[in-house]
Amino acid sequence: MKLKDKVAIVTGAGVGIGRGIALEMAKEGYDIVVTDINQENAEQVAAEVAALGVKSLSVKCDVSNSSEVTELFNQTVAQFSKVDVLVNNAGIYPFVPFESMQEADWDKVMNVNLKSIFLTSKEALKTMPEGGRIINISSIASLQGFAGLVHYCATKGGVNGMIRALALETAAKNITVNAVAPGAIQTPGAQMPEDQIKGILTGIPIARMGQPEDIANAVVFLASEKSSYITGQVIVVDGGWTIK
Ligand code: NAP
Repeated sequence: MKLKDKVAIVTGAGVGIGRGIALEMAKEGYDIVVTDINQENAEQVAAEVAALGVKSLSVKCDVSNSSEVTELFNQTVAQFSKVDVLVNNAGIYPFVPFESMQEADWDKVMNVNLKSIFLTSKEALKTMPEGGRIINISSIASLQGFAGLVHYCATKGGVNGMIRALALETAAKNITVNAVAPGAIQTPGAQMPEDQIKGILTGIPIARMGQPEDIANAVVFLASEKSSYITGQVIVVDGGWTIK
C-alpha cells in the first residue's frame, strides 16, 4: 500500500546517492522535495519522481547557505504544509593532503557536510509538529581514517556525534535522528579508474561496489514506522568493509 501525504526532503538529490534515495522513497509513496545546488539536475530528478506517481518539488539550495535553507523550507511548507522526513545527503569529499590543506578547504567541507545539517535540522524541527525522521548520510570515514580526507573524516565523525545528541533532544517529540554510513558507492562524485576499483574490491567481503539503492533501502527503513524504536544510531552499509 502506498503512503498518503508523507513528505520527504532529500538534499543533494540531483545525482548519486541522493537521487537514488529520492527515487526509492518516491516508489514507497512519499512526495519528494528534490533539492540540489545544481538546479537543472534537481529539476530532472523531480520529473523522474513525478513519473512514479507522487508529487515532487525541485528547489535549488546550497545547504551551507542559511538563507537558501530557510527558503527551501518556506517553499516546502507553502506546497506541502509540513515535512515528515529530512534526508541530509548533500556532501563533498575533495581529496587534499593535510600539509597542503588550506583553511578555506577545511571551512568549505565543514560548511557543506556539517554546518548544513545544523541549518536544515533547525528548520525541519519547526515543520514536524506530529513527529518525523531526520536521516543523515554519514560515511565509513566516520569510523576509519582515509588519507587526504582529514577534513571530511572530521565532518562525518561530527555527524555521528550530532545525531546522538540531537536524538536525545527530539525523542519526546516523536522525532528520531539516525545516520546511514555508506562504504564505497558508485556515484558521479566517486568515479575512479578500473584498477582503483579492483583494489577497493579486494577489501570488500561482499565483493561488489555499493549502488545508490543500497543506501536508499536503509534510508527507506529508517524513514518507516518499522524503525520507530531506533534513534541516535549509525547503520553501516558497506558490504562488510569495516568488519575486518
Ligand atoms: P555526488 O555524486 O557528488 O552527488 C552529490 C550531490 O550533492 C551533487 O548533485 C552535488 O552537486 C550536490 N551538492 C554539492 N554541494 C552541495 C551543496 N553545498 N548544497 C547542495 N547540494 C550540493 O555524491 P555522492 O557520492 O552521491 O555522495 C552523497 C553523500 O554520501 C555525501 O554526503 C557523501 O559524503 C556520502 N558518501 C558517499 C560515498 C560514496 O562512495 N559515494 C561513501 C560514503 C559517504 P554538484 O555535483 O553540482 O557539486
